[in-house]
Parts: sequence; structure tokens; C-alpha cells
Amino acid sequence: MKITGAVLNRIADAPPFQSSQPIEVTELDLADPQSGELLVKMSAAGVCHSDLSVVNGSRVRPVPMLLGHECSGVVVESRAEHIAAGDHVVLTFVPRCGRCPACLADRPALCSAGARANGAGEMLAGGSRLSRKGEPIRHHLGVSAFADYAVVDQGSVVVVPKDVPLDVAVLFGCAVLTGAGAIFNTAAVREGQSVAVWGLGGVGMSAVMASAAAQADVIIAIDPDAHKRAIALEVGATHAISPQESLRDVLPHGVDVALEAVGSAAVLAEAVAATAPGGMTVTVGLPAPNDQLTISPLALVAESRTLAGSYLGAANPERDIPAMIDLWRSGRLPVERLRSGSIPLSQINQAMDDLAAGHVIRQIITFDEG
Ligand SMILES: [Zn+2]
Ligand SMILES: [Zn+2]
Repeated sequence: MKITGAVLNRIADAPPFQSSQPIEVTELDLADPQSGELLVKMSAAGVCHSDLSVVNGSRVRPVPMLLGHECSGVVVESRAEHIAAGDHVVLTFVPRCGRCPACLADRPALCSAGARANGAGEMLAGGSRLSRKGEPIRHHLGVSAFADYAVVDQGSVVVVPKDVPLDVAVLFGCAVLTGAGAIFNTAAVREGQSVAVWGLGGVGMSAVMASAAAQADVIIAIDPDAHKRAIALEVGATHAISPQESLRDVLPHGVDVALEAVGSAAVLAEAVAATAPGGMTVTVGLPAPNDQLTISPLALVAESRTLAGSYLGAANPERDIPAMIDLWRSGRLPVERLRSGSIPLSQINQAMDDLAAGHVIRQIITFDEG
């Protein structure tokens, strides 16, 4: 079938992308779903920093590639068991094979088959279902959400209740799963602990909300943007400071849990240094591939600090997304506050510029009905 999608034709280094136009909204051919795959009509898609990282080359992926990996939609055709046409779905950015050692150990975010497919820009079952005048187009993280339709593997899908608006459900696929998962699964934040979050994009802001839901006592949100700091205070932060201010002015002995959501080795080193003895640092940001971290191993050993990475919130999406939706229902995870407005697909290059400028949280692309 013919679809309209946003294809990254070349890596573009630096903004303004509105001038260089590395992403082209164009007509594509989408092949039929194969066994175990689904055709999904897209409803909403979030513009995430991981998309920007592919555009500017800090996350190296093959091109041309149809970007987008955070989205919600409705199943049009299913060739998968347990998923039917008409089901509402959220897509996640690591397809789960269900058979590899990581999947069998309940760590599907580390699925080796999914990682291989994502690195190659292919479907989990191999190859591409997308082409432009006969030229194969790569899939982004098994999702390729910036299009009106997508063919995805059943392992990329979580079915969600139909009463959850799809323009809210979209946020659970990447931002909320990653940020709240890091707090609930990786850091396992407990009542009464202190948490600091560096970087208030969709992931960091979700981590602030989740820390409040976990009943952390002190929650410090750190970002250069004053508007984002103000929102953080409304969704659960007890303090909001700029990177120039010192966390130790708020917590002289340091913080129990430090979460780095910037994607910078220098910020990560700062986060580790801000932890109290016995504290834990969790990093979810994606730094440039050649970034190196310099910290004192003695500071880890002699004061029992932990440093942990967290990918996809260390989540089992089929279990954790419904649980996070329940928290949203009860008002404890006000994810709507992540939205920075709706945009049409045609504005995707401008949306990347706005994201790079650091003043928006989640811009949501909405697709025309019909
Ligand atoms: Zn993302
Ligand atoms: Zn697997």
C-alpha cells in the first residue's frame, strides 16, 4: 500500500534542519505484514531525542531510514496470535523475540535479536517492509512511527485499554517507560528517599513524576530551561535548580538516587559526585559513542556507591505499561504534562530544531483521520 512517511535521507550534523531539510516527507510503499506482524494505523507519534540523535549522527544508524519510535495506533490487520484488528496499541522500541537468553530471563529490553534488527534498521524477522520507488528504506527501531501506517512485529506491540486516549497512550512507549522504568525498576526508589534528575525532557520529566509516585521525600529537578523547571515543580519536584546551582545547597550530604537524562559524560560524572555514600546513579541518556567517563573507582568502593545504566527502563513493557497506565488513571503519573503541543508530520524538520533548542518536552505528531 502507499503511505506517507518522514525519511531521513542523510546525516545532517547540526541545526537548523529547517534549512538543510535532512528529513523528507514523501510517498512510500509499505509491504503486507508477514507471519507474526501487524499493520497499524498511526494515531500519534512523539518526537524524541533518540530521533534527533540519528539525524545529527550521534547515534549511528544506516540511511535512508523512516524515523520515529514512540507512537500509538490501531491495528488494521493482524497476522499475530492474541492481537486482533481494532486493538489499540502502543509500540516499544526494542522488539522482543521471546526466545533469547535476555527474553527468557525477563529482560526483554536486552533482547539480542531485537538489538541486532535495530542496529541494521531491519524488522525482527529480517529485511524491510518499506521502499521508495523500489529502493529499500530502513526501519527505525522496528517502529518507524513518522508515517500514517506501519508494519511492525508482534514483539514491538503492547495492547492498551480502549478508554485511554491514544494521544496520551503514545507517551508510554518511550518517554514514560524509560523515565519511570528507571525509577521503579533500576533504582527501585523507596518512600522517604531523595532523588535528583538531570535533564527535563520527556524521559527526565517522567522520572520526576515517578519519583513522586514512589513517595520520594526530596526530588530535585535540574535543567537550564526555567519553563521546564516550573513544570517539574508542578508534577512532583520539591526543588528545581539550574545546572549552575549546587545540589549540595539543598542536600549537603548528597542524594540517594541520581538520574542522568542528558546524554553527557560530564553531566554523568557530576551526578555520581552528587550522590551520598551508599547512593546510586542511574544513566538513561545516550551520549556520543566516543564519549568517555572519568570517575574515581575509590568513591564507588569506599562509600558503596552504585553506577547503573538503564535501557527502556529495564522494563517488561507488557507488564509495566499497563501498570503505569493504572498510575496515570489514579492521577499519580500526570503524563499529559509532557505534551508541548501537536504538530503535523510536514513540520518534522522544524520539530527537530525545536527539540535541539531544548525548550520543548514532547511534541506530538498527530495523523489526519480517514
Ligand atoms: Zn525515545
Ligand atoms: Zn529476545
